[in-house]
Amino acid sequence: MDPPKDTYAKLLRLLEGKDFFVITTNVDHQFQRAGFPKGRLFYTQGDYGLWQCSEPCHQATYDNYETVKAMVEQQRDLRVPSELVPYCPVCGKPMSMNLRADNTFVEDEGWYAAAARYTDFMRAHLLGRVLYLELGVGGNTPVFHSMRTKGKSTRNAIKRQISEGSHTWICCKIKMLNKCQREFAPIVQVR
Ligand SMILES: [Zn+2]
Repeated sequence: MDPPKDTYAKLLRLLEGKDFFVITTNVDHQFQRAGFPKGRLFYTQGDYGLWQCSEPCHQATYDNYETVKAMVEQQRDLRVPSELVPYCPVCGKPMSMNLRADNTFVEDEGWYAAAARYTDFMRAHLLGRVLYLELGVGGNTPVFHSMRTKGKSTRNAIKRQISEGSHTWICCKIKMLNKCQREFAPIVQVR
């Protein structure tokens, strides 16, 4: 399903040619659909586009696009044909969404690879000037916003919050600052 507005597309255009990385708790697959390069994404809390064993009996995820598409096309009265219900190819138990809803969340090879790329990005820019954008954050889990208002926006605090927090952060080199400030003035925190 496409988002109601073209915000993702605008964001991608804004980042064109920039060295950036996105870490997000969004699980709706929209960054991928908008064309963000997968190598610059780390969706830490899972993805609606992936299934996993509900047990889980093994640490792997499975792309579910074709099956979900068939479910949408064939559903009647909120029911889908039994043969479309997914079961684990290893243990035969029902599959579930790859979402960090409880302690059954599967962190597969792709998850660890993305985590490593994010760590590499942060390490490579440890001493540089980096612009952090915090987007779509509500009052329950603000990071930069609350840090700004509490006067705690130290470099270490930001790095810790990015590692432990939630929602979406985009880190990119400082060169894009002026344009970003115009686009995202209310939420930009500069380091
Ligand atoms: Zn299984």
